[in-house]
Amino acid sequence: MVHNFDIVIVGGGILGTSISYFLSYLNKSKKIAVIEQEHNVAFHTSGRNTGKVHAPYLYNPEKKKLFAKAAFHGYDMWEEYSKLRDLPFKKDGVLEVALDQKGIKILEKYLKWGKENGLEENDIELMNQKDLKKIEPEIKCEAALNVHRDGSGDYAIYTKAIMKDSKENGIKFLLENKVTQIKKENGNWKITLNGEHEIFAKFLINAAGGEAMDIAHTLNVAQKLTDVHFRGEYWKAPKQYHDLTKTSVYSVPEFPDYPFLDPHWIIRVDGSCEIGPNAVPVFSPYGYSKTENIKEFVPKLLEMLVSGARKAIFDRQFQELALSEIQSSMSKSAMIDRVRRFLPKIEASKITEKGTAGIRSSVIDDNGKFVPDVILIDEESSFHILNYNSPGATGALPFAAHIINHLREQDHLEYESDEQCGPWKFSDIIEKIS
Ligand SMILES: Cc1cc2nc3c(=O)[nH]c(=O)nc-3n(C[C@H](O)[C@H](O)[C@H](O)COP(=O)(O)OP(=O)(O)OC[C@H]3O[C@@H](n4cnc5c(N)ncnc54)[C@H](O)[C@@H]3O)c2cc1C
Repeated sequence: MVHNFDIVIVGGGILGTSISYFLSYLNKSKKIAVIEQEHNVAFHTSGRNTGKVHAPYLYNPEKKKLFAKAAFHGYDMWEEYSKLRDLPFKKDGVLEVALDQKGIKILEKYLKWGKENGLEENDIELMNQKDLKKIEPEIKCEAALNVHRDGSGDYAIYTKAIMKDSKENGIKFLLENKVTQIKKENGNWKITLNGEHEIFAKFLINAAGGEAMDIAHTLNVAQKLTDVHFRGEYWKAPKQYHDLTKTSVYSVPEFPDYPFLDPHWIIRVDGSCEIGPNAVPVFSPYGYSKTENIKEFVPKLLEMLVSGARKAIFDRQFQELALSEIQSSMSKSAMIDRVRRFLPKIEASKITEKGTAGIRSSVIDDNGKFVPDVILIDEESSFHILNYNSPGATGALPFAAHIINHLREQDHLEYESDEQCGPWKFSDIIEKIS
């Protein structure tokens, strides 16, 4: 194993792998490694999500401009990359439904945001109940936003393809290696893997998803922030329901300031259907099972009690919402009932198989408020990406390019080339998302 690297990226999720992809074209002279604890990339959130290539209509262009732009251009990039590599991608659209008059007002706002974020007239339309019934007779709602420029993909497959390209261009992927300690030694990072062997790096990029906050804290970064983990669970719908709708259906989120979206009706890229995700508070970024949550319960609770999360967990609204999510985890029909509000034909008794759960880690500031946007932190020889949540997979390619451009501007990275990165010219991507 090479022990000395110029750049080490911690985390082989879709973001860390996408960063490595662009570096593999732009900084060819550098020795670069991606460290991933699992046996393959995209083992956690990047391979356990809804698989939607989202149009950016849910994002306020003033508050989440970069994220919205990344999602808008990410759609084109995944579509193009999928064609090039023969990967699954379907432009199958999504319906956002309003169940009452208040919801219609929100749809009108989303229509405006979507257009401000780049969607065109024929990409998105507001439909009344009557017109929607003609194309989707099983859906019960007051109105719907029909977003034609929305797609389905498979982010685990995309991340593996991006890894393959990066490896061919010289990036090392150190799989089954968990970063267990990071220390500064003679101006370099000494990174211990699996508690056993050491590698050294001049610059470290923390793209560790649900563990990114812990890694930042280890390096004395972002001490005023903390994170809370939510498990998103899915139920698989049997074949008899696969033709219930032509399009995936989301309902207007009732509490957009909290990380609790109502479960959706999902049509995946392979045509299978699922219901989910809910958002059940858990105690670890890997809290898929009871055993892991019990193990992490005490340390996480102690961390939360001395941080801003304390205010969040004593907030009445948060408690009520969390309780309803826990209920929807314990009772299948409580979860299915949330989708039956707009797809009344579904019967909980016909749904028997669970899907693959994924975990979202949301950052809370010292005032106890959920931070709505991604957090990027520059340090002298490290860079940290926190709170990289939905639609993070959609925007991963342009967002990774943005990070590299930022590191160049901060003189952390040298300008070696502005070359073609696979099918894209780097400077074109930067121009589009700037
Ligand atoms: C339920 C759910 C549904 C979603 N649906 C969508 C969707 O439909 N469309 C969309 O665009 N986005 C969606 N998202 C968001 C999207 O999945 C995430 O934004 C994205 O996957 C985050 O990628 P990441 O690379 O930052 O994190 P991750 O995928 O979590 O990757 C981080 C990696 O770091 C590794 N790691 C962590 N610590 C260490 C360590 N100490 N040593 C070595 N390795 C380490 C982990 O093993 C992991 O592989 C969804 C998220 C959730 C939770």
